[in-house]
Amino acid sequence: MSVKIKFLGGAKTVTGSSHLVTAGNTEILLDGGLFQGRRQAFYEINTAFHYNPRTIKAMVLSHAHIDHCGNIPNLIKRGLRCKIYTTSATKDLAALMLVDSGKIQEEDVRYVNKINRRMGLPLRKALYTAKEASKAIRIFRSISYKQKFCIAKDICATILDAGHILGSGIIVLDIKDGQRSLRVGYAVDLGRKNLPLLNDPVVPEGLDYLVMESTYGARLHRPIDEAQSKLREAICRAVKRGGKVIIPSFTLERTQEVIYFLNELLKEKLIPSVPIYVDSPLATNITDLFNYHLDFLNDKTRKAFGKGDNPFELLNLRFIREQKESKALNTDKRPMIIIAGSGMCESGRVLHHLQNNIEDSRNMILVVGYMAQDTLGRRIVEKNPFVRIFGVEYELNAEVVVINSFSGHADQRELLEFVSGCTVSSPAGGPLKRIFLVHGELEQSEALAGLLSQKGLQVHIPDKDEEILLN
Ligand SMILES: [Zn+2]
Ligand SMILES: [Zn+2]
Repeated sequence: MSVKIKFLGGAKTVTGSSHLVTAGNTEILLDGGLFQGRRQAFYEINTAFHYNPRTIKAMVLSHAHIDHCGNIPNLIKRGLRCKIYTTSATKDLAALMLVDSGKIQEEDVRYVNKINRRMGLPLRKALYTAKEASKAIRIFRSISYKQKFCIAKDICATILDAGHILGSGIIVLDIKDGQRSLRVGYAVDLGRKNLPLLNDPVVPEGLDYLVMESTYGARLHRPIDEAQSKLREAICRAVKRGGKVIIPSFTLERTQEVIYFLNELLKEKLIPSVPIYVDSPLATNITDLFNYHLDFLNDKTRKAFGKGDNPFELLNLRFIREQKESKALNTDKRPMIIIAGSGMCESGRVLHHLQNNIEDSRNMILVVGYMAQDTLGRRIVEKNPFVRIFGVEYELNAEVVVINSFSGHADQRELLEFVSGCTVSSPAGGPLKRIFLVHGELEQSEALAGLLSQKGLQVHIPDKDEEILLN
């Protein structure tokens, strides 16, 4: 039988990860991510399928970030009926993330349609609503790390810890074709060693093919420990001048990491004891899941929980659910730290905090995550003198501090190290035949491809919708 892989999304870009593996007549989807970008492209790309969702036999989901799972409710609307295999933590996290994504889309459509109605333009519909998203989780099935499960007669899969976010997985597909066996690894996204809450990524053995992310294929991160000292310096500086620190943060993982570091700094009395607000009902619910899925955390964190030292319970930390309480922060002039989503400043409560605080030079916008092209977050990082929020232009006077060491993605050195680990052949399979670099802006993927080629490895950066035969 022929085995093919088609790169449906997340090729030569960082969002919208989705890949179709076809083995004989069996179609398996790896991830069903949402492409995130400008509104027009968002609707066009996320609704154009070059395959039939009805004929998919199974989906394996790597993790709960929306660029990997966010198009699942839409796929279900278009006929996807198979089971979606993933870890229990990803299943629970995805349930929250998808409903939130549905809510964001409904809000966006309401806003756009107000304008479209006035201008006599056709009205838009959300890709899916929060209600539709909440039903999607019914087809999810939980699988433990390292537990081999079979999708079809000769096709089995295993999920290994990717060390990227809670519950994240590297997917390994084992495909048997008579005497021939093929092992395909999918490390999208790949985490890093020594992250504060998680275990290190597991290196799969005996791969024939590897599909790997390359978000930071050309960059080196500072060591993760540095995040804590940079956080301390920045917060001390802003608080000293009486400013507020706004941290746009991804609700999933980054928010919990930031809280973890703030907890460490407060315990050592290295930052002033100012109020800390996590202004996001979603982040609050996600943090609850971290408390529940302790098995997915590293030894150190689990032991801390065992001793009653919960890193997410600080005296001056408050999780805000109500909008009223969120709005009250606008008139509170005390120095404080506000952690709010969305991470790239494209939606959510962070927009209100930016609107209220961006023009005051005492304040600080502390960037702790990746900001994609064409997002407000990227314009802030690039320190544009003026930025547009809710259609109004604001002067960017607040200090912008970027801490790169926080990343949950492997950097160039770590990606190379991971590939070296994968090239060690094992009885389970032969040496790596080819690496496909996805999930990266082109210059990042190309830089990494260059270095891997120098090591004698076959590397390819696929185009969107390109299909390749694996033999
Ligand atoms: Zn991710
Ligand atoms: Zn991703």
